[in-house]
Parts: sequence; C-alpha cells; structure tokens
Amino acid sequence: MKKSVRKAIIAGNWKMNKTRPEAKELLEAIKPLVANADGKVEVIACVPFTNLETAVAATAGSNVKVGAENVHFEKSGAFTGEISADMLVEVGVEYVVIGHSERRQYFGETDETVNKRTKAALAAGLKPIVCVGELLWERECDITEEVIARQIKLDLFDVSAEDVKKTVIAYEPVWAIGTGKTATADQAEEVCAFIRATLAKIYDEETAQAVTIQYGGSMNAKNCAELLSKENVDGGLIGGASLKAADFNTIVQAAVEG
Ligand code: PEP
Repeated sequence: MKKSVRKAIIAGNWKMNKTRPEAKELLEAIKPLVANADGKVEVIACVPFTNLETAVAATAGSNVKVGAENVHFEKSGAFTGEISADMLVEVGVEYVVIGHSERRQYFGETDETVNKRTKAALAAGLKPIVCVGELLWERECDITEEVIARQIKLDLFDVSAEDVKKTVIAYEPVWAIGTGKTATADQAEEVCAFIRATLAKIYDEETAQAVTIQYGGSMNAKNCAELLSKENVDGGLIGGASLKAADFNTIVQAAVEG
C-alpha cells in the first residue's frame, strides 16, 4: 500500500489553551481555510475538555473533526477529575490523544495506562492518537529504536489488527515538543518507517501499511512540507502552530499536496 492510499491526518493539539469564546473564534477561522481538504486530509482539533461541546457545535457540518486530549480507562466510578470514553462519545468527539509526552512526563502516564486508555477508547468507538517518542538522552545513547519498539508493543498490547487500523500513531520525539527543535525530515522518516516495520512484525504487512503514522514536534508552516513529503509520515500532530489559523492551514495544505 502506498502513502497516497493511507488516510493523511493533521491534528491540532491545543493543550491547555483557549477559553470557549476563543475556541469558537479559532475554529471559525480554521473552517473555511481547510474546507478544500475535505476527502483528502482529515483535519482534527484536539481541545481541552471544557471546549469540547463548543468545538463540536462550531465544527458541525464542516470537515473539521474534534478530539479530546486524554481519556480515562474505566467506564465510570470514583475517579475524581477524570473523563470516560463514553462521556466523550456522548459529546460528539471522534478522536482522542493518548500518552502525550506531557502526560507521561508530568502526570505519571505509563505504557500500561496508555494501553488501558487505548483499549477503552477503541471499545467506545473513539479513534485513539497514541503518542510515542524518545527522550533526548535516549537518542544520544542510540536506543531510539528500542524505546519506540517497547512503547509500540506495550501501548498496543492486546489491540486487534482491526482496531489498530482505527488507531493513529504519533511519533513525537520528546526533545522536539514545544522546544522549536524539529527532527529532520530524514530522522522523522526513519523512525516512522521503523514504527511501521514494528507494526508489521506484531500484526502483518497489510495492517502496518494501513495505519496512519504522524510526526509531531515543532512542526510549523516552514518545515511541514519537507516532513510531510516523506513516505512514512502520513500527517502531523501539531501543538503551538495549531493555535494560529493561518499556520495550521499551511500545514493542512502541505498535507493536501502530500
Ligand atoms: C504536541 O503537543 O504534540 C506538539 C507536537 O507540540 P509542538 O508542535 O508545539 O512541538
């Protein structure tokens, strides 16, 4: 399967930014800009929980989909402060970011909880965007592939081939997130290809070829075209640049060009 038949996905990760009126304003600005991507590139805004309802209403009838930034793995119960997959589905959410490095770094997220969240999301009908990536120290020690293989195996443990095809993998080198340091296009391609090869070992070649693999880490209007031109880079998970409609659109248009 060629890159051209996989689903290209550009997802904004707004992190802890935007009030509801600000969210509406940003989405209203994004919608007309990215309308031409319909059917070519899936465009997603992953927004804070408090913005989900506003985002679903603001994007209704458009080609912009809404994602959450986290989900709990239990269905309900005494988990103060958490949000379940069913709650997200009920609001109209389609995607959810799981295992972002900021969750792993600041909130004790582990591969085990990433795995549980991924399975809970899939069971509820959500499409998970599972983030993996190495620390700078791990890259310097030349263990990037070991780290990524371990994360892929653990995070997707017990996820069926059918379900993994609904899952998006985001390769996000931790040293490139919010730092302004981007992996070179060759570095991004190398690890995204390695992720696909790892999926082929766990599942099979046909399944691996069907999975959308994004790059994330300081992708912006300037570097997106080169990154997105790579064979195994099927899209991007965008932090800072997703908060500016024009920059986000430039990235979407680069993905349309392929
Ligand atoms: C992210 O939050 O997933 C991300 C890639 O952030 P940034 O684009 O700001 O590096």
